[in-house]
This record gives sequence, C-alpha cells and structure tokens, in this order.
Amino acid sequence: MKNLLIVLSGPSGVGKGTIVKKLLQKGGFALSVSCTTRLPRAGEREGESYFFISKEQFEQKIDCGGFLEYSNHFENYYGTPRDFVEKQLEKTDVVLEIEVDGALQVKKSNPKALLIMILPPSEEELKARLLKRGSENEQTIARRISRMQYEISKKDSYDYTVVNDDLERAVEEILKIIANKKGDIK
Ligand code: 5GP
Repeated sequence: MKNLLIVLSGPSGVGKGTIVKKLLQKGGFALSVSCTTRLPRAGEREGESYFFISKEQFEQKIDCGGFLEYSNHFENYYGTPRDFVEKQLEKTDVVLEIEVDGALQVKKSNPKALLIMILPPSEEELKARLLKRGSENEQTIARRISRMQYEISKKDSYDYTVVNDDLERAVEEILKIIANKKGDIK
C-alpha cells in the first residue's frame, strides 16, 4: 500500500494541534478521530475532537480488538479506532495525533508507519508556557510537566524530530519528510 500512516506526537503545549490543522489545510490527509474516556472540554465536539465514550464502552472495544493502539494516561483511556484508520488508508494518507506509548505500539504493528515527534525550541520555555496557561490546577500542571519530560525522553524511538520554532517552517519540514518517505515506498 502506498498510503502512509503518519504519527505525530510531542509534549503538551508544543503546538501539535496547530500543525495538524495546517497539514489538513494543505489537503491529502485524513485525520483519525480518537476515542477517549475523558470529559469534553469547552468547545470540543463529539466526533470532531474525540468520540467521548464511557470506560465500559472503551474496555469493550479493547476486548474486541477495536483499537489500532490505546493508552491510559492522565487517568483516562485514549485510543485510535482501527476500522476508521484502515478504511481511510485505502484512500489517502492518515495522520494520528497521539502520545508516545501509543505511537510506539503503532510502529510495532505497522513498521512502515512514519513517526514524527514535534519538539519545543527549548524544554525550559515549554515548561514556562505550561505554567502560564493558568487554566489548570497545580497538580495537573505538575503532571503535564512530568509527562512532557517523559515524552521528550522517547524522541530517539521516532523516525524524525521536528522543532516547532516557527510554525510555517515546521509544517514545511514535515511535508518534506512525508514527500521523501512517499518517494521511498512508491
Ligand atoms: P488531551 O486530553 O489534551 O486532548 O490529550 C492528551 C494526550 O493524549 C495528547 O498527548 C494526545 O496526543 C494524546 N492522545 C489523543 N488521542 C490519542 C489516542 O487515540 N491514542 C493515544 N495513545 N494518545 C492519544
């Protein structure tokens, strides 16, 4: 199959969401919508941001092999629905925006998947940004910072790392990586 499964990860606050939006605007990609057991945040829409399901529904889906990958972090389940991704891959390249544990599961089951980690220009600056966000309590922020350090510690398991120092530049770099990879597998 010549269509690519592209996995984008990166610590919280690094700008993954904006990068994904830009990639989708360029066209030629389908974005996988994950299932999660966490509650929707303000402005999030069912079937667009996530499919918001209960823990019981999630565990049932795990049991019947319904996830390409899943992980349990920030005290909730997050998973990529297998059927959607497989169907889309018949037509186009598919982007998953998921965290590192799930990304490494995908690489194991789909060695041809392209794993890209988005990194901040500096870890310190990202830490400061997370602290400044203000919308979350101290405990949540501390958890996000320790998760950020964990995610960055896995960067060598990725095929590529891209520093989000400038949005347009980072998107161009990602598009080049994808184009090269597609050239390789034609
Ligand atoms: P948030 O709760 O802020 O939307 O997402 C928290 C983290 O979960 C982010 O790092 C995001 O990339 C990750 N995530 C979202 N969907 C999935 C998924 O389907 N699988 C995995 N493994 N991680 C996910």
